[in-house]
Amino acid sequence: MKSWQVIEWGKSLELREYPDPEPKGKEVVVRITSSGICHSDLHIISGGFDLGDGNLARLEDRGVNTPYTPGHEILGTVVAVGPDADGVDVGDSRIVFPWIGCGECGVCQEEDDNLCVNPRFIGARVDGGYSDHVVVPDAKYLIPYDGVPEELACTYACSGITAWTALNRAGNLRESDYLLLIGLGGVGYNGLYLAPHVQKAKVIVADIDEGKREAAMAAGAVEAFDPTDKNALDNIMKATGGGVAGAIDFVGAPSTFQFGMSTLRKNGTLVIVGLFGGAQKVSIPMFPFMAMSVRGSYVGNLRDMNDMMKVIQAGGVPAIPIETRPLHDCNQALHELEHGKVTGRIILKP
Ligand SMILES: [Zn+2]
Ligand SMILES: [Zn+2]
Repeated sequence: MKSWQVIEWGKSLELREYPDPEPKGKEVVVRITSSGICHSDLHIISGGFDLGDGNLARLEDRGVNTPYTPGHEILGTVVAVGPDADGVDVGDSRIVFPWIGCGECGVCQEEDDNLCVNPRFIGARVDGGYSDHVVVPDAKYLIPYDGVPEELACTYACSGITAWTALNRAGNLRESDYLLLIGLGGVGYNGLYLAPHVQKAKVIVADIDEGKREAAMAAGAVEAFDPTDKNALDNIMKATGGGVAGAIDFVGAPSTFQFGMSTLRKNGTLVIVGLFGGAQKVSIPMFPFMAMSVRGSYVGNLRDMNDMMKVIQAGGVPAIPIETRPLHDCNQALHELEHGKVTGRIILKP
């Protein structure tokens, strides 16, 4: 097995070779054929996430040690199954659902593996997809994708499910309501494309890039705003008749958080899903005055993944732009992503 690994946090990935994994118990070994590069891989490789005010959520403090293989948008072919594995056969091609919990805690009992306190997330806690093989603890985490190109299908394991779940957490919006999507990166685009399958509300977008605003209008947004325009808030208030019922912050920076909160109408909900990082002061009385909710959303659970893939497989959801690269080009691809030179998703091919 050849894996591109973090040897030292914050440094380029290095190639390491290991014996091919052998499945035990219910485990399944997948030979990887497509592996997406997610923006959060940059945080993971750097060793943690910026909590603001100089604080870092360190992976090492959560039991993740080097050498470590990142990558959590994985798709491949089953090449070996453990003696107790059930539900897949050697040769089956599947998406790997990576947001796997301990299986025992309260949230795992509720099947909210993605919120587990002691997770086994593939490519975020245990070794992931910048490799030619990955071990999956149970065949139930392998998702069919028939009819969807595999390079696109793998991106639904993070970019897609993250958008899907965030859309659901914006509340039960009505047809007359407005839903604001802030920031059209890979996840934001999936949010725009999946929104009509989750919410009845009219979708408006905010992005600093004119090209992305135009693309959003072409993809069905009813209006698009530049959040750096000093009249942006006024214009949104006018366009929506007093504010949006739901807003989703796909960036997660202090400026987008502030912007999102300011656009809400009374009883509105802001969902924060982006992990850009930082900290922000807020006015506490605005919560009761506005009766507003601010909530987070983190990837999604297996039930959501299966529900979403049924919608994707039924067709009618546009594809995000996809570009493929050989796995050994991963450092160059990460560098381009870090410097904002990537539109859509880069998929590594081992
Ligand atoms: Zn991701
Ligand atoms: Zn758990």
